[in-house]
Amino acid sequence: MKVGILALQGAFIEHGKKMEELGIPYKYVKLPEDLEDIDGIILPGGESTAMGKLLREFNMLDLLRKRIEDGLPVFGTCSGMILLAKKLYNDLTVHLGVMDIEVKRNAYGRQLGSFNCRGHFKGIDNLVEMVFIRAPYVTSIREDVDILSKVDGNIVAVRQNNMLAISFHPELTDDLSVHKYFIKMIEELS
Ligand code: GLN
Repeated sequence: MKVGILALQGAFIEHGKKMEELGIPYKYVKLPEDLEDIDGIILPGGESTAMGKLLREFNMLDLLRKRIEDGLPVFGTCSGMILLAKKLYNDLTVHLGVMDIEVKRNAYGRQLGSFNCRGHFKGIDNLVEMVFIRAPYVTSIREDVDILSKVDGNIVAVRQNNMLAISFHPELTDDLSVHKYFIKMIEELS
């Protein structure tokens, strides 16, 4: 198994460290050809407008969308969730547009919208450590999207088939459980 980590912008190195801790081979994805030999991909947090722009500039947006539509397991964290959404609540832009969710960017406010907590996560036994940084949350879903976690009534983790999207940053904590969840997803889908 080899996991790709989109490495155009944002917190990709931290996800690489998590793969090292789990002993999972990984590679950073910077060019279209890097998408060829991967079994799953992580879309890190960062800034979704910049990441979407770079995906278009490097001719990777359509190719990545096609791989995901063909079943490549994908794990979007924070701005990765924004890239996956078919609709944004407060922005007309759509990037990959593959997941039946509507997502609100900077949903907790731009300035004071960063906080940490522990929350329940369907399929994970322990309470998951969650770091929110100018995070989005999900404002609506279609019926085949599974809600995995809610914090203060807001949806912060969802899964639809091969796609996992979360509002927070597990790569900035010591908690490996959400990365393990994604690895299990890849194993189950392969
Ligand atoms: N606010 C950022 C955006 O809209 C996401 C923040 C993050 O990834 N931590 O892209």
